[in-house]
Parts: sequence; structure tokens; C-alpha cells
Amino acid sequence: MRLLCVTLGHKPDKTRVWNDNVDFRAPCARCGAPMMRDEKKAWRLFDHEKDGSPGRKLHRHDKAADL
Ligand SMILES: [Zn+2]
Repeated sequence: MRLLCVTLGHKPDKTRVWNDNVDFRAPCARCGAPMMRDEKKAWRLFDHEKDGSPGRKLHRHDKAADL
């Protein structure tokens, strides 16, 4: 995790937003951490344990190591 992400929080890369069938997702523009837009339309880190759902499609760039 980059220092800017630690101090300012992650910043979604709006040019790489995609829809996984449930929510909008995007990687952090600085460190590449997976993020999602929650029901309040606020971006936050994607948590595979809490946010994982069978309805979600995997992005072709998702790495198996993330799961
Ligand atoms: Zn980040």
C-alpha cells in the first residue's frame, strides 16, 4: 500500500470502472487495490470475505491470488 493511500485513502481509477453484475468496481489508481462503490455511492476497498457473492462476475484482470 502506497503512503498516499495510507494517508488520503484509496482513489478509484475512474477510467477503469467496471460492473460485476452487483456493484461498480475499480482498482485504486495508485496501488491497484480492488475497490467497489457501495449502496451510498461511496468508494471503499472491496473485501472478498464480506463482499464476495455468487452473483458477482470476475473481472478478466482479477488475479486468482486475490481470492
Ligand atoms: Zn490505493
